Amino acid sequence: ESAMTTLAACGDVCRNVMASAPPFETAAYETVRRTAHEIAVALRPATNAYHEIWINGERQVSSEAEEPFYGELYLPRKYKVGVTVMGDNQIDIYSYDAGLIGIVEYDQVIGFNVLAGGGLGMSHGRENTFAQLAHEIAYIAPEHGVEAIRVIASIYRDFGNRSDRKQARLKYLIDDRGLDWFVDEFRARCDFNVQPARVLPRIANQDWLGPHRQNESHWFYGLFVENGRIVDTDEMQLRTAIRRIVVESNCDITLTAQQSLIFTGLTSHQVGRIEQILREYGIETVDRLSAAVRYSMACPALPTCGMAVAESERAAPDFVRKLESLIESVGLRDEPLTFRMTGCPNGCARPYTADIALVGRRPGIYHLFVGGRLAGDRMADLYAADIKIEDTIDILRPLVQSWAQQRRPHEGLGDFYQRVVGQSERRQRLTGKEEPCITHVQMQLVQLDSQTSRRSAC
Ligand code: SF4
Repeated sequence: ESAMTTLAACGDVCRNVMASAPPFETAAYETVRRTAHEIAVALRPATNAYHEIWINGERQVSSEAEEPFYGELYLPRKYKVGVTVMGDNQIDIYSYDAGLIGIVEYDQVIGFNVLAGGGLGMSHGRENTFAQLAHEIAYIAPEHGVEAIRVIASIYRDFGNRSDRKQARLKYLIDDRGLDWFVDEFRARCDFNVQPARVLPRIANQDWLGPHRQNESHWFYGLFVENGRIVDTDEMQLRTAIRRIVVESNCDITLTAQQSLIFTGLTSHQVGRIEQILREYGIETVDRLSAAVRYSMACPALPTCGMAVAESERAAPDFVRKLESLIESVGLRDEPLTFRMTGCPNGCARPYTADIALVGRRPGIYHLFVGGRLAGDRMADLYAADIKIEDTIDILRPLVQSWAQQRRPHEGLGDFYQRVVGQSERRQRLTGKEEPCITHVQMQLVQLDSQTSRRSAC
């Protein structure tokens, strides 16, 4: 199954709490894992499943236990919490309902920036549904991380919309009442010191693929799993290879929020042996992956997901190889670039923060988004609407070529696009009813091109 809906840290307790997956045995990462686990426990309902036993039309047994925290309604199915440290955005922390970013000094988490109101699901054509990046609402001491998340859940419990499923997210509550109201409410409910959020440097995307030191004597090894699908094919026997690695090295596995997995607790000899096994079974090690493939993700969509209106996971590998060829043709094979694809607008593969994304509209037809970036901290724009998947590469070609010719040193595709269209503000929201901007972008590209030609002529 796709690792997207699986967990990194705490699935045994609450499937919606995620922590960044690398098993570093450092104080900062220990704090992240422990906090995520404690949040999962703290948000777990206290009651067991409600049950009644009836015999011959008469109720014999009933469990009407009281739920002390949630009252009559649990949190909605989609209420997600993430925990990470500054510098590691493997879990796309801005896409969660509530989150904590640990601020680290000398390997200690000295405090958390508290995030609220993220979420990437929306509905096509409905302006009152939107994908949104979480707001950084406060800074707190590390020992109050769990309580801060519980306070946020309590505000949602008391004011959240529970009658309309499409509005049952914290982001809509914050939108309805205003961010200032939410921050005031949060502060009023906290019985600990709350300061304004700290300004952080841009948080980098880390995929933790390949070998890394886990502690002084052990290593971990991140393995790219395309779209989270572990399967043997004629070209590559991924399932067999993983089984062999686990049997030979007796290591543990952690699933990541990027659909990949990490083998943990390895000796340096075992790291070498893993790479040998991968080669033996036709699997490319991370140094051989192009950036377009390495940073790609697709949701399960058809035939697994009942919400899907278009292909995603089954169509993505072929599309990504075409995108890879296009990017290789302009000489930028190794330039980090995110591509994501989903079979409907619910956004499970987090498409709206990618450099390039396809979101299913109906069979074979997609919205094309451009302008996010690897850091996952900016929304893309709807670049072209209702396009056929087979036309997408041609539609992207002028932009990719201009990027190659005009980019500033190390400028990613999304950053280049944003500079061309002159958007200096980081976009935080994308509604279900966007206007495509391809004509505007083409015009800007032409202008940029002619300016460059004039400069060369001079
Ligand atoms: Fe999520 Fe939609 Fe993909 Fe289903 S088709 S996994 S709901 S994005």
